[in-house]
Amino acid sequence: MQPRYDVIIVGGGPAGLSAAIYAGRARFSTLVLEKGFFGGQVITATDIWNYPGFPEGITGEECVSRLESQARKYGAGMENIEALGISKEGDAVIVKADGRPLKSRAVIIATGASVRKLGVKGEDEFAGRGVSYCATCDGALFAGRDVLMMGGGDTAIDDALFLTKYARSVTVVHRRDELRATGLLREKAFSSDKISFIWNSVIAEIAGDKAVEGVVLRDTLTGESRSLPTSGVFISIGRVPSSGFVRGFLDLDDGGYIVTDMRMATSVKGIFVAGDVRSGAWRQVATAIGDGVAAALSAGQYIGTLSPQT
Ligand code: NAP
Repeated sequence: MQPRYDVIIVGGGPAGLSAAIYAGRARFSTLVLEKGFFGGQVITATDIWNYPGFPEGITGEECVSRLESQARKYGAGMENIEALGISKEGDAVIVKADGRPLKSRAVIIATGASVRKLGVKGEDEFAGRGVSYCATCDGALFAGRDVLMMGGGDTAIDDALFLTKYARSVTVVHRRDELRATGLLREKAFSSDKISFIWNSVIAEIAGDKAVEGVVLRDTLTGESRSLPTSGVFISIGRVPSSGFVRGFLDLDDGGYIVTDMRMATSVKGIFVAGDVRSGAWRQVATAIGDGVAAALSAGQYIGTLSPQT
């Protein structure tokens, strides 16, 4: 089975690319697999203001392009290919990538997480025509319009505040009567004259003709339904870890995130995890990068314990 790599990294977001920088610089033959576009979720962030060392902010796109060029500089290969499964063959780790088995001495999983969908009528039909999962990407399209934000977490409230830059009004719909979001975000949202709240409600249906025209809301306490006109439906109800391809092989927590020790090592020797797919991750660019670095260092240390034939 050829070729054989020292380190295969599954996922080309900040965690994976940072792991690639360290693995490549340590002179390990390194390959990064990415099924979509390199950069992951962060590429949609207009500006990252809390990225240490960049007091003037940095766009998600620039952050990723810098990480990618640094990884390439140290010799990491990049392939647009999806990892479908992982197994062990002796000490070697086999990544099944689009039917092609790739052999490696160590693997770092940095596949991140994707948006959680509501699963209601109209959601897929109007995706890109009024339904969005990314306020920073699509907010400007709703200048002067009335929009709705589904969700009560930090992301939903952060995004609702962002949307007030463009929208005439933002109605936050939350399934309980208390936000999950805390601190400054919550205070800012409550004091914004553009944001209003509908409590104890969920979207039961998204309706329209060519584009979104309104939603049907269902009261979670009484079960009653009512219609509400809106031009845009932003959905921010959490994320789903991209760990399906290792389910049954690695230990996952109740939410499906991969469990590691403090050194990013999983329940299977030679397999490490970095970034948002890791159980307990903080889901910040800076911490994803830290995870990637730690995973690469741990993988390097592990490779040092293997026989050269592995
Ligand atoms: P989250 O904290 O899991 O919040 C998800 C929200 O969606 C919750 O309000 C939840 O309601 C609601 N929800 C979940 N499933 C739903 C469903 N099927 N129907 C309706 N509502 C549903 O996710 P997040 O906001 O993306 O945040 C993820 C992590 O990133 C958190 O640790 C957060 O602190 C962090 N973060 C931090 C910042 C910041 O500090 N600036 C910004 C963004 C994200 P319940 O509350 O009822 O469960």
